[in-house]
Amino acid sequence: MSIEQTTSKAHLGAETHQVFNQSSPLENYNLFASDRVLQESLSHYGVEDTEQLLAYGERCGRAEVIQWGFDANEHKPQFESHDRFGHRVDLVKFHPAYHQLMNMALTEGIHSGPWQPDAKNAHLKRAALSYMQSQIDAGHGCPLTMTFASVPTIKLCPSVAETWLPKILNTAYQPENVPYFEKTAVTIGMGMTEKQGGSDVRANTTVAEPVKESGNGALYTINGHKWFLSAPMCDAFLMLAQSSGGLSCFLVPRWREDGQKNGLHVQRLKNKMGNVSNASSELELRQAQGWMVGEEGRGVAAIIEMVALTRFDCMVGSTAGQRQAVVQAVNHARERSSFGARLIDQALMKNVLADLHLEVEGSLALTMRMAKALDNNDDPAEQLLMRLGTAVGKFWICKRTPGHAYEAMECLGGNGVIENCIMPRLYREAPINAIWEGSGNIQALDVLRALQKTPAVLDRWFMEIAKTAGRNTLLDSAVSKLKETFARTGALEFRARYLIEQLALTMQASLLLESAPAAIAEAFIHSRLCGVQAIYGCLPENTDVDAILARVLPDNP
Ligand SMILES: Cc1cc2nc3c(=O)[nH]c(=O)nc-3n(C[C@H](O)[C@H](O)[C@H](O)COP(=O)(O)OP(=O)(O)OC[C@H]3O[C@@H](n4cnc5c(N)ncnc54)[C@H](O)[C@@H]3O)c2cc1C
Repeated sequence: MSIEQTTSKAHLGAETHQVFNQSSPLENYNLFASDRVLQESLSHYGVEDTEQLLAYGERCGRAEVIQWGFDANEHKPQFESHDRFGHRVDLVKFHPAYHQLMNMALTEGIHSGPWQPDAKNAHLKRAALSYMQSQIDAGHGCPLTMTFASVPTIKLCPSVAETWLPKILNTAYQPENVPYFEKTAVTIGMGMTEKQGGSDVRANTTVAEPVKESGNGALYTINGHKWFLSAPMCDAFLMLAQSSGGLSCFLVPRWREDGQKNGLHVQRLKNKMGNVSNASSELELRQAQGWMVGEEGRGVAAIIEMVALTRFDCMVGSTAGQRQAVVQAVNHARERSSFGARLIDQALMKNVLADLHLEVEGSLALTMRMAKALDNNDDPAEQLLMRLGTAVGKFWICKRTPGHAYEAMECLGGNGVIENCIMPRLYREAPINAIWEGSGNIQALDVLRALQKTPAVLDRWFMEIAKTAGRNTLLDSAVSKLKETFARTGALEFRARYLIEQLALTMQASLLLESAPAAIAEAFIHSRLCGVQAIYGCLPENTDVDAILARVLPDNP
């Protein structure tokens, strides 16, 4: 071979090196079939008909669907205030991938399953569907969860419910920017947060005045603003505004009853660090029209029905983020070798991965127990459990997720921070659920409020944990200590985060004792109820890490 020939071949790059020891993408896998923990949890609560979940798991894991998640985030939503002729349109344009994801979820009924007649175990099944969907992309979950959660609030107003509920429950996706009365399927958003305060909605300055009559179902004219209004392409928004009787709740449609565009003027879209596929807007209401929903002056009580469910969905979403982070980390560690052995076979990496998976076990156990409570919502005991459970669960699971996402990302080394893998997206998404729908302190204060108003919620919590009393001395003593801590009433507010943390951990431990294999429950208790666990990967020496890791992706050894 001549020198010229050798040089030109080297220039082509064909022989500089071979690519090896890189992991392969995790795609074309079944998110349900490969998730033993999810399957066991559903089975524990009596869900045996899982064909729909199996089929949906296969769909979610298709390479094409995973790519939609990437595309919907790479191509940010774009806002157009006016059309080319100068008419105000307030249009948000999404990449086709976003519409594909929305279409897939809405036609599956992720927004509506539990509200269909005779739906059995419907919250459990819906939580499982949403858990899988959210692993593909979290952002589009925002309008899905708001639409789902709007139903109990909308039901407070029979005239509004008559028109809107059939369209909300319809399993179709109609993203067209046309009046609601021309559509058979709609989505619903939420407008509470204003510039001067999000947590303290009593400070809302948006004002509503009756067009003619006042009260539940009456039409009002609304002026003011909203500082965070996500998914502004929804067909209507449940909003808070001050009326003469106090802060009230309204359903404000994108288009008015007379077919005119309603006075909802998007000012701009937020430039967010995460949750990119979801558009979040700043909005002004100029002579907008909307119907009062619920009693005048009881707006918080009305919209809290919605908020309780969106908080539950934050638990589902953050647990999904944790699960996706762990499967990515394990997939990589199984295929990547370092210092002569696969990462998954190295003691220190096993410790980290097993610990990350334990977090998923605890998060899913608590989330699915609350899904079960939602399915039994006509049982007062389950209502009591739910009252504390959504606040405790949202606080704890969402707060644990950012550190979890970072640690899982580190398992992939440098590849984990590159944008063509899902880890950066999971990492940037991780804090969002903790902040919206009531930030951490607000959840903690909500728990204290519940304890003060209905002390029975705490007894009910401990009653649930007592189902496993006597099975593990460490858990028993953690529960006794926690009860003593509650008995001390001083500085409750100052100590609230610690109390909620312990409420969450003891419940998670008990639920795992009840339904998970012994290795999982034991490891969870020893790593989380025996002092400070500052970072992941500090499991005690005798932990059965192989038994834990065998549960992550059992079909792909
Ligand atoms: C991506 C995204 C999308 C959103 N979409 C929507 C939407 O669609 N609709 C909507 O209405 N809102 C939406 N929000 C707003 C969100 O719900 C609020 O940001 C959140 O409720 C916090 O309100 P705030 O930003 O005004 O902060 P603040 O209320 O000012 O709170 C700031 C901090 O102070 C803490 N705090 C507040 N009061 C107390 C207290 N008494 N004691 C101790 N600590 C306290 C809070 O926990 C928080 O950490 C969205 C937010 C994000 C990030």
